[in-house]
Amino acid sequence: MAHVPDLAAPALDIDKIRQDFPLLQEKVYGKPIVYLDNSATTQKPQVVLDTLERYYKHYNSNVHRGVHHLSQVASEEYEAARDIVAGFINAREREEVIFTKGTTDSINLVANVFGRGVIKAGDEVIVSAMEHHSNIVPWQIMCEDRGAVLKVIPMDEHGDLIMEEYTKLLSDKVKIVSVAYISNSLGTVNPVREIIAQAHAHNIPVLLDAAQAIQHMPLDVQELDADFIAFSGHKVYGPTGIGILYGKREWLDKLPPYQGGGDMIKTVTFAKTTYNVLPFKYEAGTPDISGAIALGAAVKYIQETGLENIHAYEEQLMNYAVEQLSKIAGLRFIGNPKHRSGAISFLVANIHPYDLGELLDKQGVAIRTGHHCAEPVMDFFCIPGTVRASFAMYTTKEDIDRLVVAINKAVSMLQ
Ligand code: PLP
Repeated sequence: MAHVPDLAAPALDIDKIRQDFPLLQEKVYGKPIVYLDNSATTQKPQVVLDTLERYYKHYNSNVHRGVHHLSQVASEEYEAARDIVAGFINAREREEVIFTKGTTDSINLVANVFGRGVIKAGDEVIVSAMEHHSNIVPWQIMCEDRGAVLKVIPMDEHGDLIMEEYTKLLSDKVKIVSVAYISNSLGTVNPVREIIAQAHAHNIPVLLDAAQAIQHMPLDVQELDADFIAFSGHKVYGPTGIGILYGKREWLDKLPPYQGGGDMIKTVTFAKTTYNVLPFKYEAGTPDISGAIALGAAVKYIQETGLENIHAYEEQLMNYAVEQLSKIAGLRFIGNPKHRSGAISFLVANIHPYDLGELLDKQGVAIRTGHHCAEPVMDFFCIPGTVRASFAMYTTKEDIDRLVVAINKAVSMLQ
């Protein structure tokens, strides 16, 4: 057997990292779990679980409203989490960081306020052919409402965007471009700097769906110069129900509010209501306080581990996975982008992805099968779905080896 280099980058102690994640110690059907569904959601380190518990046990109370001690502690922790996230993505101002429910909520927010504040009949919005449904449907709803038109950047058979076509789509009619940084169904890393530069040359703002990027590579909003960035807490080792919308102040100040309610107002009368300053203007109602604070803990955990280290390690893992999976007879990768990160999609011979997924599950290997909320991608490749393996900082070479063994066993049972 060919010598397989040790994958652990010197700066990452994977064994120690794995011990920080209680769920990775679990067994499924009596077998140690191989968790390769990280694009769907990541597991949580102990520090995140402890943070959630500490909030409910020791200072559970509402934020920004009470003069009492508990409320002050909760407010301080909640706002401290905002500072952590702002530092993590290098936001120019902490007020540009809005807590939402997740990526879906963040994109809906922007589509809604853009629709009401900017879009007129005949205007255009650009998305790409490889978007998650949550970066398609909110724009469709808005376009339908406003009489606007949704345009799509096509992709080629490798799962790469056709940039010449993108250039042709840009015009004065386009009011916003919204694209995934990394595709959840194919793992393609899109040329977002080029996408943003071309859009900005036409004074068009860009929203980046960073749901599959933020956990895999350093992301600096000032360097990227994206106007909006959306991501979910649960994909970045934090809890479900919490997410982030980053928006440049110049946009968030001038766009209308999204939802109305407590916290987002300055004054309310029946004659006229005035709105609160950022970030509260976009945070109506009681937020997911524990979720936000625990997201702060997750981000801190990543910062201590180092995203550069995580990125380097996961790149080695991806190369190893491609190399090992390529040896399986009849396996074909769906999309074979030049730049891939986080997730890898494939099919084996004529086996339905669901059947393969079931047999992998029985062997303790958790992968995702289906259309991955990207039906247009599956239609493009004329397939019902794919098998997707996706990685995180705690994934090991052994996980990939067990995946390969499990696929071979499943194939021998199904053929
Ligand atoms: N965008 C991308 C690229 C995703 O991968 C996902 C989730 O898989 C989403 C958006 C939606 O994220 P959420 O369901 O956390 O809102």
